[in-house]
Amino acid sequence: MTTHMYDAIIVGAGGAGLMAALYASKGGAKVAVVSKLYPTRSHTGAAQGGVGAALGNHEEDYPIWHAYDTVKGGDYLADQNAALVLAENAVDAVIELEHMGLPFDRTPDGRISQRRFGGHTSNFGEKPVRRACHAADRTGHMILQTLYQQCIKENVKFFDEFHVVDMLVRDGGCAGVVAVEIGTGDLHVFHAKATVFATGGWGRVWQTSSNAHTLTGDGAAIPLRRGVPLQDLEFYQFHPTGIAKLGILITEGVRGEGGILLNSLGERFMPKYAPKIKDLASRDVVSRAIYTELQEGRGINGKPYVYLDITPATVNHYSKQDGENRQIDRAYIESKLPDILDFCRTYLGIDPVEKPIPIHPTAHYAMGGIPTNIDGQAVIDENWTVMPGLYSAGEAACVSCHGANRLGTNSLVDLIVFGRRAGMHVAEYVKGADMPALPTNPTAEIHAELQRIRQSKGKTRPVEIRRAMQKLMMDKVSVFRDEAGMTAALDELFELRQRYVHDLTIDDNGAKYNTDLMEAWELGCLLDVAETTTISALERKESRGAHSREDYKDRDDNNWLVHTLIQRTDGTDLSLSSREYAINTNKRVDLSLAEHDERFIPKERVY
Ligand SMILES: Cc1cc2nc3c(=O)[nH]c(=O)nc-3n(C[C@H](O)[C@H](O)[C@H](O)COP(=O)(O)OP(=O)(O)OC[C@H]3O[C@@H](n4cnc5c(N)ncnc54)[C@H](O)[C@@H]3O)c2cc1C
Repeated sequence: MTTHMYDAIIVGAGGAGLMAALYASKGGAKVAVVSKLYPTRSHTGAAQGGVGAALGNHEEDYPIWHAYDTVKGGDYLADQNAALVLAENAVDAVIELEHMGLPFDRTPDGRISQRRFGGHTSNFGEKPVRRACHAADRTGHMILQTLYQQCIKENVKFFDEFHVVDMLVRDGGCAGVVAVEIGTGDLHVFHAKATVFATGGWGRVWQTSSNAHTLTGDGAAIPLRRGVPLQDLEFYQFHPTGIAKLGILITEGVRGEGGILLNSLGERFMPKYAPKIKDLASRDVVSRAIYTELQEGRGINGKPYVYLDITPATVNHYSKQDGENRQIDRAYIESKLPDILDFCRTYLGIDPVEKPIPIHPTAHYAMGGIPTNIDGQAVIDENWTVMPGLYSAGEAACVSCHGANRLGTNSLVDLIVFGRRAGMHVAEYVKGADMPALPTNPTAEIHAELQRIRQSKGKTRPVEIRRAMQKLMMDKVSVFRDEAGMTAALDELFELRQRYVHDLTIDDNGAKYNTDLMEAWELGCLLDVAETTTISALERKESRGAHSREDYKDRDDNNWLVHTLIQRTDGTDLSLSSREYAINTNKRVDLSLAEHDERFIPKERVY
């Protein structure tokens, strides 16, 4: 066992982790990034459409409008001060990325080019606004490359292909993490004053997902096992436009550039569901609209998908109807959406400039996660008590700027704004903090758990459990939910966990590059997240944002304008075959803006 000592350990090398590392390092801290992937393979690199900031390069725009859209898009559950910080800090964070060398698309006069995205409007919901700053449809790729270069320049130390498997807790604070060096199988202790979990999301809980295979919720499950609560897990976003069957994401930028959704009758159906902003309504609204069309028998040729049409003829036709008069052609689409065209040609054999794309909703983004304040510090109860030394940023965290549903482009903003704030806070925190003591025998428990998996002699392969879980979650805990379905899902998840603990088998017993072992371990994390998501979703007896219950169809502000916190109550035995959780719904939503501006008070639900 090797022990490394740093002021700060950042777990994860996506946009959030790199931004936190960069700023902690700039602030004088000795920083290491520990990542199970080589940094530039992080999922941030797959982000396509853009990063939102009210630069107003094409038309009038202000951060307060961006904040309003964020709160409204989040169905009023967002912490309003966090949404305002997001919108205000977005402007200089994007300009800073530009100055670091990020090659944004340009307007003819040389400013950062912006396009429309769902739910982003001007003047408090009046009409769609051009707010998404983009580098073609590869915005995330450019962000990741730019930040990685900056981190190297700033002498951040990288431990690539080190898989974090446990968190070290001593005297109620976080003292670092334990990681498996994938290449050797050795355990390493990373001992630090501050630890930032920036491990991304967990789309792999569901069968159809836009997420990379590596997004298995490790950074949610590890703190949960060590007693940290997770917030608002019931809010998981399904992106409306995944390629049918495959789940590969087709960016909302396609609709931002004028793309239209059509059903089997050739009808543009979104005006029925969102008369004002139509195809650019927020994602929860569009996903439900598509499901409803499918349920009512208007899937294309009776199949479970609808069309997304970006052919110039369709775009120009509907744009004229909407009074906008776009005139786009092949060259324009090729320049604005090159990767999307590539995906469709490669995976579907379809050229979207000539034919519509078959799409249906795909599991995409976790609004919930490790609860934090606006400086990235983990908070562990409804009184905003901070856990010393523990931070989180990016998709793994829940600052709750997105509330019950995130707007497109706001995740990349979240990474750069709250990643940066966490990094800055860490730099100050470590100056005043002592190195915490390590728990005795810091690797003993995780070593035992990994040995259990490695030597298990049961009959069930991890892939069988994973597929069963993914199908179950897709059928019973996805866009629409109800009590009967979710109760059945919990029973089945319990069975799956029994098999995971008592009847597992893996093929590879070796030490080096044992991906069999690591994937089996990741499956344990997926099961934890699936279970806690379902329990949280059962608890919330209303429909809000991405959480749509068929047995409680209305939003209920009187009883449910609260966050949920779910926490383990049965100690910290890592391999328990059944777990006990407590749910706390006393964490009130911070409505601080409401005092200043009555437009932020929850009112009608008109899109
Ligand atoms: C296809 C796609 C397109 C998207 N498009 C957009 C968009 O246009 N605009 C937008 O705003 N958002 C978009 N999103 C969402 C956004 O990209 C993600 O929410 C965001 O990139 C997450 O960044 P992150 O830094 O939190 O984590 P990630 O980029 O997912 O990085 C996670 C990091 O954690 C590491 N890690 C995880 N577990 C461990 C472990 N156990 N040990 C060590 N390291 C670990 C990984 O190695 C990785 O480096 C998109 C998402 C997808 C999937």
